[in-house]
Amino acid sequence: MDIRFYNTLTHRVEPFTPIDAPNVYMYNCGPTVYDYAHIGNFRTFVFADVLRRFLELAGHKVHQVMNITDVGHMTDDQLADGGGEDKMAAAATRLKESKKDGRALVENPDDPYAVAEFFTTAFIDDAKRLNLKIADEYPGQMPRATDHVEPSMIPMIRSLIEKDHAYVADDGAVYFSVQSFPEYGKLSGNSLDHLKGGAGGRVQDSHQTHKRHPADFLLWKPDASHLMKWDSPWGEGYPGWHIECSAMARALLQRDTIDIHTGGEDNIFPHHECEIAQTCGATGHDRFANFWLHSRFLLVEGEKMSKSKGNFHTVRDVLEGKVTGRPVDPAVLRFELLKGHYRSNINFTAKGLADSASAVDRLRTAERAVSASSIHVSMRTIDNIDAEYSVINEFKAALSEDLNISGALGVLFSWLKSNPTNLIEMHDILTITNEVLAILPGSDAYVIIKDNTGTHVGSVDQDIKMKCKALDDARVAKDYDKSDAIRKEIESAGYEVKTTKKGTVASKRLA
Ligand code: AMP
Ligand code: ZN
Repeated sequence: MDIRFYNTLTHRVEPFTPIDAPNVYMYNCGPTVYDYAHIGNFRTFVFADVLRRFLELAGHKVHQVMNITDVGHMTDDQLADGGGEDKMAAAATRLKESKKDGRALVENPDDPYAVAEFFTTAFIDDAKRLNLKIADEYPGQMPRATDHVEPSMIPMIRSLIEKDHAYVADDGAVYFSVQSFPEYGKLSGNSLDHLKGGAGGRVQDSHQTHKRHPADFLLWKPDASHLMKWDSPWGEGYPGWHIECSAMARALLQRDTIDIHTGGEDNIFPHHECEIAQTCGATGHDRFANFWLHSRFLLVEGEKMSKSKGNFHTVRDVLEGKVTGRPVDPAVLRFELLKGHYRSNINFTAKGLADSASAVDRLRTAERAVSASSIHVSMRTIDNIDAEYSVINEFKAALSEDLNISGALGVLFSWLKSNPTNLIEMHDILTITNEVLAILPGSDAYVIIKDNTGTHVGSVDQDIKMKCKALDDARVAKDYDKSDAIRKEIESAGYEVKTTKKGTVASKRLA
């Protein structure tokens, strides 16, 4: 299937071909865990999730890494060279103040690890409620920047110094030398000439004293008094924000050039520009990611929703009804965050949520009609199903054109409007479109069906999925007689049953 994406690097919509198909290696900049992630952040994370799910539906095997930033992100990091206070340290101060009002969110706000852990757990809970596959895949174990300082960031900084892409300045800090990397500015358009002129205020005079070029950015800051610090050849201190993603992408995806890198539009400069310089500087390759995809902001009253502006709604506030006055179903919030094209702003409104609620309702009504019946859908490969249903073909075709979600939803909802009555058709279309939308229950990939080459081609047997869930429930309830009996039932339907971190997975090879 031909897929095209808009690539920020080339400013064009381009055919997407993975380096090592069917594998796709993708890195998503994750949350900075100094506060709850807001629904603007989740607009960007849901976009990455839809992208992953669509690639899987198109037959790719996606290796996805999303990091947790728990160190080094400064309050002035929108400037090329950082500055200000560490966001984790700022969080400690804020949390202590909130404790004064009698609200002790975190037991010991002076411990930045405790603060990070608290908000990481909150992030994973929210991500699960919004059905992000990555949160299901690594429950509680998404990669933390603090675990990668010694094994990956310090070695990368050392190699950048060896290759003359970085230097130790008079103040003892290590900076990346942007003049050593002629491609600097290619992603964002902020060439060095432009940056000398101030880049719209994003290169700050006050930080220039020890640097060779105003746009040189921090890799390591020696500071023995910092709350989070590590030993390094440049003294005890902490890493800059940008190095973490370069180092973690390389270490965790285990390659120098990856297929896709994503983030919100504010990540383009300086963060992603700096990541490219670091990774390409260290590896010597001319590409870090072949495709750079960026989502536009979610707005409130026409302004970017942001933690620093304080105009933000958390996922839990929305779900608990603190924003609209009535509780919101997680599936409705997910739909609201995914229904707009990722390269357009979305404006968060109560009216939008109400529209999403009725869309989710239409999907659920159709799904209820299917699950109330006792049809048993025989196994087919997704490709066979595509050939049968123009709705699925058109849904996929829309998404393959730079994730045209409105086109894809248009196809699905016009079909629903035609009041379909064929239960098998309804089952197939709802199940397969739900692989991407993940709005209906049972969307977890409990059943893996492999074709004769061993490729994962999809999960379509609702009945087996329900049995896998029942098996998990019985195991949680420690009713092992029941779980054994269910396991036998699944096996007798021709499946191999495995217990994984995600829960029970049943797989079957198609002849
Ligand atoms: P942060 O937690 O600040 O590191 O941000 C996590 C991700 O959310 C980054 O990819 C940001 O670009 C993205 N982001 C921040 N604010 C918004 C917003 N209002 N709308 C969409 N994405 C956002
Ligand atoms: Zn990043």
